[in-house]
Amino acid sequence: MKIVMLGAPGAGKGTQAINIAKEYDIPHVSTGDIFRANIKNGTELGMKAKEYMDKGALVPDEVTIGMLLDRISEPDCKNGYVLDGFPRTIPQAESLRKALTEKGDKLDVAVNIEVPDAVIEERMSGRRACLKCGATYHVVYTPPKKEGICDNCGSELVQRADDKPETVKARLATYHEQTQPLIDFYKKEGILKEVDGTQSPSDVFKAVMEALS
Ligand code: ADP
Ligand code: ADP
Ligand code: ZN
Repeated sequence: MKIVMLGAPGAGKGTQAINIAKEYDIPHVSTGDIFRANIKNGTELGMKAKEYMDKGALVPDEVTIGMLLDRISEPDCKNGYVLDGFPRTIPQAESLRKALTEKGDKLDVAVNIEVPDAVIEERMSGRRACLKCGATYHVVYTPPKKEGICDNCGSELVQRADDKPETVKARLATYHEQTQPLIDFYKKEGILKEVDGTQSPSDVFKAVMEALS
């Protein structure tokens, strides 16, 4: 199963991608997580990405596309994957399609998690992230069992630097301008499924599983 998650920042892509990855036993591939791991390790790629991430802008396609295509050519991706945060631009989607077509392969489903901007701003302000395993929580909606600690791996949770309100506004503008057109792109490909992301996380997951079946 090769799945793409679409949706605004904070729509719940990561939350659902982790569930899907467990259900289908495929890797959860998050470009945001890959960039954050590089920033943490002080790599050149990380330093370059951080410049853009801090502003709420997209990391340039020249950097992002090669990185993602390398990742999905690793052996653990051979039976499929769930892409979270990629593609985010039309050129990214076209490059992915081309790379798959060359191998006689294709995506199975693009799931769009639909959430209005007003709800997003509230979700982002309460988001807490585990930089070690990629799990996310919300201080009100989906709190961890022990405050500030990841249920999954026991690491300390942090508020992401780019989740402050000014940056969230910039990221939403970036989303509407550069990423939203992908909804039509995948509709034309005939693989788009829409899910109402304003329901509880478990109801969203039910709807996602229906969309995938
Ligand atoms: P969110 O979970 O809020 O959608 P991500 O963790 O996916 O955010 O991404 C964080 C930031 O990393 C983005 O705002 C952007 O700067 C950068 N980024 C992640 N994926 C991509 C991508 N496919 N193309 C360009 N930039 C990306
Ligand atoms: P994305 O990967 O699309 O940026 P996340 O999965 O990180 O989004 O979710 C953003 C924030 O909203 C997190 O704090 C998460 O715990 C919370 N969240 C995710 N899904 C829901 C939901 N259905 N209802 C309420 N809060 C949610
Ligand atoms: Zn963790």
